This record gives sequence, C-alpha cells and structure tokens, in this order.
Amino acid sequence: MSTTGRVYLVGAGPGDPGLLTARALELIAHADVILYDRLIPDSALDGARADAELLFAGKQGGGGDSVPQQQTEALMLARALEGKSVVRLKGGDPFVFGRGGEEALTLRTAGIPFEVVSGVTAGVAALAYAGIPVTHRGLATAVAFVTGRTGDDSELDWQALAAFPGTLVFYMGVGRLAQIASSLIAAGRDPSEPAAVVEAGTLPTQRTVGATLQTIAERVQREGVGSPSITVVGAVAALAEQLAWATRKPLAGRTVAVTRARAQASGLARSLRELGARVVQAPVVRTQRLPGPALDPTAYDLICVTSPNAANELFERLAAAGRDARALAGARIASIGPGTTDALARHGIAADIVPERFVAEGLVQALADVAVTRALVARARGGRETLPDALRAGGADVDVLDLYETVVEPLSADALALALAADYVTFTSASTVRNFLAAAGEGADGGSLSAQTRVVSIGPVTSEALREHGLTVDVEASAHDIEGLLQALLADAATR
Ligand code: SAH
Repeated sequence: MSTTGRVYLVGAGPGDPGLLTARALELIAHADVILYDRLIPDSALDGARADAELLFAGKQGGGGDSVPQQQTEALMLARALEGKSVVRLKGGDPFVFGRGGEEALTLRTAGIPFEVVSGVTAGVAALAYAGIPVTHRGLATAVAFVTGRTGDDSELDWQALAAFPGTLVFYMGVGRLAQIASSLIAAGRDPSEPAAVVEAGTLPTQRTVGATLQTIAERVQREGVGSPSITVVGAVAALAEQLAWATRKPLAGRTVAVTRARAQASGLARSLRELGARVVQAPVVRTQRLPGPALDPTAYDLICVTSPNAANELFERLAAAGRDARALAGARIASIGPGTTDALARHGIAADIVPERFVAEGLVQALADVAVTRALVARARGGRETLPDALRAGGADVDVLDLYETVVEPLSADALALALAADYVTFTSASTVRNFLAAAGEGADGGSLSAQTRVVSIGPVTSEALREHGLTVDVEASAHDIEGLLQALLADAATR
C-alpha cells in the first residue's frame, strides 16, 4: 500500500509568466502529475520534470476540447490515492471563479490532504496592466468581483450591484456584455460611468477598449474583442488613458520569431519580451560537442575564439585535460565580439583583442598589427576560412580546432506556422537560414513567409545566405551581435 499523495490547488496567474509565484514554480518543478487548465501561461510547464504526467483538464468557452469537471476531479483523486504529488494548475487564482473551492471540498470528503497556492487574479492584474487600479483614493473605495456568466440572470442582484459604491469587475461573459450593461443601467447605474474591457490582459497581445457603460457593449462588438476578457465598470476605468503602460512598450503587439538554438536563445527572447513582443521560439539549430584529443594550448601565442559556444567548449576541452584558465596565460586571446568576450570573462579571461566589426573580416583587421607565430582558431565545424587564411598569409602556423558542430533541430508544425505568420523573423547565422527554409519547404502548405513578415539578419554573412535563398533582407544589424540585432529591429519597428 502506498501512502496518499497530496494535491496542490495552484494559481498560475493571468498569463504573464512573470506573475507565476515562487511557490507555484517550485511545486511545478516537483510534481508527479500536473492537471492544467487552458488559461495558464504558455511557459508555465517548462520547469516540470521530464517524467511528470501533464494532463489537460481545461474548459473551453465555445466548443473545442473540454474535460468535464467530474472527470478532472476523479483523475485528481485517483492520482493522489496512488501516492502521487498532484498539482492542479489553474489560471489566475484558484479560489476566484476557478472552481477551486469545489475541488477542495471533494478532496476534503475523500480525506486527501491539500494545499492552496494563491495566484494573481485576472480581475486585478489584467486591469493593472491596462493602467486601471481597482481602487483609487477619491474614485473607488471598494471593488466587487462578479461573474458575468450565471445560469440564470436572477442569480445576480442587479439592484445591489447598481448601488455598489465602488468598482465592478466582471469575469467571463464578455459575450453577454450588452445584457450586463443594460441590466445595470435599468437598475439605476449611471450610463455615463466609465467602463473598459481588457482582452488578453498581461499578455503581449493585450488590448483595452474603453467607453461608457452605455456604449461599451457596442464598441466591444465592433472591435471584435474575444476571450479571455475582463470588464470593469467604474470611475477608475478612465485612468487607463493616463496610466496604460504595457501597450506603450516599443514592441507591444508585435510577434517576433527566434530561430537560433534554444540554448542560446534565452537572452534574445528575454530582451524581446521585455520590449513587449510576443516571442515565438522556433529553434532550427542545436549545437553538439565534438570529441577531440586533450588540448595543450601552451604552444600558441594567439588564440582566436569565434563564438560564445566556442569559448565554453574551449574550457570544457581544457577541463577534460585537467587544466584551467592558467593554461592560456602565455597566449593573447582574440574574441570575435561582445557575446564571446562575455563568455570568456565568465571563465576568468579578459580578451586582449576585440574587433570593431563582429565578423571574421573585422577580427582579421584587428589582428593586422599583431605579430603571430603560432595561432589556434577555436570555432564550429564548417566555419569560414577567412581568419585562418589571413593568419597563414601573415606567416603564422595555424591550427583550426573544431570544438562543436551545428546540427539541424526539427521544427514542430505549430512553431513553424507561428513563425511564418510573425511580424519579424530573426536569423542569427547562415545555418539558421538554411534550416528554417528547409523546414518551411517541408511544411504542409509548402510554407512561405507571410507578405508582411520582416526578415531580420544579424549581419552580412547571414544576409548573403538569405539572398541566396531568394529572400529580401528587410533589416540588417549594423553591429553584428544580439544587441545590434535588437537595436536594428527596434529602429525598424519604430517606423512602422
Ligand atoms: N481563476 C481565474 C478566473 C477564471 S474565470 C482568475 O483568478 O483570474 C475565467 C475568466 O477570467 C475569463 O473569462 C476572463 O474574464 C478572466 N481572465 C482570465 N485571464 C484573463 C486575461 N489574461 N485577461 C483578461 N481576462 C482574463
């Protein structure tokens, strides 16, 4: 007999992964089983154990997949009785219109221990991200959370709601907004009171429609506002005009696809998200370590490192031979650009030479006046010969050390479709170009980029690969690193 497991009723917040609580992330990371709803952040399950059982238990507004509540509760009980640690992950807060209370009662009846982990509720956060504080001195001294979807209209006391001295927040039922507004007005609420609907609050696609109680339903219908949306009625709704901040970010409302290797994409993805973009991860390459003999770097007076990954792999190779950074003491270290310089710095090495342009030609130029007898070029297999050739032409003995190779990473049909429809697709190397286009060519519809998608290249070598494949380069970074690519993309977005 196994001992009974425990169930955690966990709120995942309204959509922004940054609003997952520390406790939620910890429990997700340890869970045996995760039963999750539809409205949880995209990345909420990224930290789950590889062997965790992930089960969709969501409800869909209109049609679509839907798992009956009874079935969800039965599954939750069954797994807990098997002794598993079960996370029941819900959008927002589990006890705010989330049926968390019902599930807790079921667990109580079955004698299964449970904990509740509060989450950030949409009624507060979606509005906050739209610049609407639910209370505000002088404008609203109380707030009411109200369900917009009731089995029977008479369940809501419209007289009481109309008389409520503060902000009204309606969850669900954006489709019933016309009835809600007219019921409130009929019961005496001021038709000229400010009202707003926030769609996809806290997400990159967030949108706010503001009006008065009288006009909100019609405006929402005209603008085609969909689910999930939350409605606010009250003087505070008008503050959005002054306080909206999330939609003012420079890349708000733009979708950007990132094709570089997942392991290297996090920095770029994070920066893009911080600028307000919706990021589509579409990695088409992955780096793979190459085996090789122990490395003795003491014979070289120059070591050129041509990528951040080459820097990391160089130290792996040294470590394998029982050596560390001191083995590089006798050589000058040349780095191809800032990312590589940072990677070297993390291993305790300050690069001696960094070019002004972050391409092989730039490094050749930076090395023009450096006397070199024996050089090592640490790089990826299949790298360009520009640098070794130039060093040899200058009279040096050159060893090329292929530390890793870039291999094709298969792209899921979903990621491909999202990337092809994105506002921007970013390419950070010739291999990302080749592999992305190969994946697109194999796509079901013979896939090609949508007409308004802008192609962004990190530099001339990548741009050349794009042109060879018949693509127009819309944006090319003038500094050939991630920061340069971001700046170029931002400059382009600002003009469009
Ligand atoms: N437990 C959740 C609410 C579940 S009911 C919470 O505490 O937030 C589902 C309703 O929540 C949706 O119909 C919508 O009204 C609201 N909602 C959830 N996420 C939202 C979001 N990102 N933006 C706007 N409304 C949202």
